[in-house]
Amino acid sequence: MDFDLHPDEITFEQEVVAFLEANRSPEVMDSNPEHLSQTVETPAKRAFMRKLAEQGWLGMSWPKKYGGQERSGIYDFLLTEALSRFGAPQPGKGVGIVGKTIIRHGNEELKEYFLPRIIRGEIEFAIGYSEPQAGSDAASMQLKAVHDDARGGWVLNGHKIWTTSAHFADWYWVGARTSEHKHKGITLFLIPMNHTGFEIHPTYTIGDERTNEVFFNDVFVPDSHVVGQVGEGWTYICEALDLERFAMLPVGPVEMKLKGLIEYVREATLDGEPLAKDPVVRKTIAKLCADLEVARKLQRKVISEALKDRVPTTEAAMYKMWQSQLGQRIANAALDLIGPDAALKPDQPEAPVNGRYERSYRYTVVDTIGGGTSEVQKNIIARRALGLPKNF
Ligand SMILES: Cc1cc2nc3c(=O)[nH]c(=O)nc-3n(C[C@H](O)[C@H](O)[C@H](O)COP(=O)(O)OP(=O)(O)OC[C@H]3O[C@@H](n4cnc5c(N)ncnc54)[C@H](O)[C@@H]3O)c2cc1C
Repeated sequence: MDFDLHPDEITFEQEVVAFLEANRSPEVMDSNPEHLSQTVETPAKRAFMRKLAEQGWLGMSWPKKYGGQERSGIYDFLLTEALSRFGAPQPGKGVGIVGKTIIRHGNEELKEYFLPRIIRGEIEFAIGYSEPQAGSDAASMQLKAVHDDARGGWVLNGHKIWTTSAHFADWYWVGARTSEHKHKGITLFLIPMNHTGFEIHPTYTIGDERTNEVFFNDVFVPDSHVVGQVGEGWTYICEALDLERFAMLPVGPVEMKLKGLIEYVREATLDGEPLAKDPVVRKTIAKLCADLEVARKLQRKVISEALKDRVPTTEAAMYKMWQSQLGQRIANAALDLIGPDAALKPDQPEAPVNGRYERSYRYTVVDTIGGGTSEVQKNIIARRALGLPKNF
């Protein structure tokens, strides 16, 4: 088994790193890149995304007929990882979720409109699956879509929650109920976010991130903006969730968090003694390093399955659970090793490591929830990898 990159892949990685060094900017990159930036909210971040597009780095693995280069998916992975180490925004939603699903299932009109715009880095998406009574069990969604034969489209009414990016995205990728059948009654729609029928309210998380509640008041969507077949939305959502769990989850932020903690431990002292000499500290750090290596290997397994053109469902579930829980273990360890001052916030002058781990501690709570909770990942592993019976 060879875990090393091919020389062409190493050259590409170096090119990306050189580009990121040359384009370093606090407006675009988070100086504590332990926090993964999915949002492309500001004009500076949008301009950065267009620069990535100009390099030909968006949709590299897409078919040539849709503007891609048919390069191996490993290049998308190398790009995502490098961006995450610099705290730069990720192109995952458009390229990895919406674009790939449209390529597989979308009609010609959707392909013609969306694919070139995604590849040029021009549009941002918000993803709408969750509702007040439909989170882990997303197939219980109740947002209602009723067909209007006279107008040739659907009228949507109801309520979504946790729609990150709804306050600045251009398009909404939404699952809605088109019949009573639980799974075969869900259809996917693409709707312009500036539709007058939307009402958007902010929700702030423990990690200071903004997400949103979205109310739908007679939102009309033409038939042409149904993604794939009516009633097949749940299949596409499941595929897209598998893609999300690895397309949008690089190991870089966890790696940088641990790197920062190791640097702190090397320099810090406790009661006049170097912290690095303390056997408990050394043991904790060594264990976290081994855990990080496990995360890298799980991620390589996901990528290797995806490169065989398989949707890596159980591998992605294992990786998502491990990666997000490891982030929490590192933040926990940092608070223990740094001591009471670790609870100082980033804007407080005495805060050790600029308050990075206080923020991490809060932010990593969210990581084990978004994209499917750890319990849901365990259910996927139990059912699909081990063949154990369903528990709900
Ligand atoms: C910051 C953030 C951003 C998000 N962004 C988006 C977004 O952009 N678009 C979107 O559609 N959604 C988004 N979500 C929603 C996210 O996918 C859901 O929060 C998640 O799926 C969990 O659903 P829930 O919050 O309703 O919790 P629930 O499903 O109510 O779960 C509550 C608890 O019960 C456990 N549980 C539930 N079912 C089972 C089971 N069968 N077996 C064992 N345990 C179970 C869960 O693990 C959890 O601990 C976001 C969430 C957060 C926190």
